[in-house]
Amino acid sequence: MADTLQGTGLRLGRRFSDLTNFFVGASVLHLQQRLLRLAHDVREQYPLDRSQQVMTLRARACDTIQLTPLEYRGDFGIFIEEVLTSAEQMPKEPSRGLKRTVIRNSPNYCYSCGREFGAFFEDAPEGLKPTVDHVWPRALGGDTIEANLLPACGACNSAKGHIAAWQMAWIQPIVFADIDETHALSSLSKEAKMALHVRAAMSYSQQNGSSLKDAFLAIGPREPPVRIDSEQGYDFFNLRVHDDSRTSVIWTPN
Ligand SMILES: [Zn+2]
Repeated sequence: MADTLQGTGLRLGRRFSDLTNFFVGASVLHLQQRLLRLAHDVREQYPLDRSQQVMTLRARACDTIQLTPLEYRGDFGIFIEEVLTSAEQMPKEPSRGLKRTVIRNSPNYCYSCGREFGAFFEDAPEGLKPTVDHVWPRALGGDTIEANLLPACGACNSAKGHIAAWQMAWIQPIVFADIDETHALSSLSKEAKMALHVRAAMSYSQQNGSSLKDAFLAIGPREPPVRIDSEQGYDFFNLRVHDDSRTSVIWTPN
């Protein structure tokens, strides 16, 4: 992917690696989602016949998403088995007991917007209630285990469903938006802020080898957006929505 971009002679300056990461990330996620969906269908079609599932998924991966054993560097058979296993474990609601445990062991605020549970807001006149959110989305194979769950308010939980990982295709208009500088920060949508928050957590966890859940806890909930480098513009890659003084570990929000 990076080579293809380089080959086009695009002059993207300092945004080159940001955009390359974005495209690679978006493609991988897109592929992952489509494969999981295919695996889900195949499992429904042949519920009891694993070898038929393997054969059919293999054929469909080649036909519909042009993923062939030649393009895959590892053992394609094992890979197909793994995708089927992920699909098998996929959609699970946390049990009541697990929800209670997660809420008990986590801070008493929404990990995304930072609003305190029990406090009163316009959208929560009877006190904000916690829901339990999959930090790495279920649609992308995220497990329903305590290490992947954090309490979020209902508004953030349902909005985050669309964001999943920040590179999701629908976020592209925001990434490439020609943002008007005067209104840049105040007009940023909630979705864009959530995508920036998810992106910061993903990059923190990659750089520090921590789980995504610990990364969210370390960077803290969303804050008003600011530019990372005040000499640079207001594009997606130069904005952050968390307090970067919270973390003692040095990392770059890419
Ligand atoms: Zn929230």
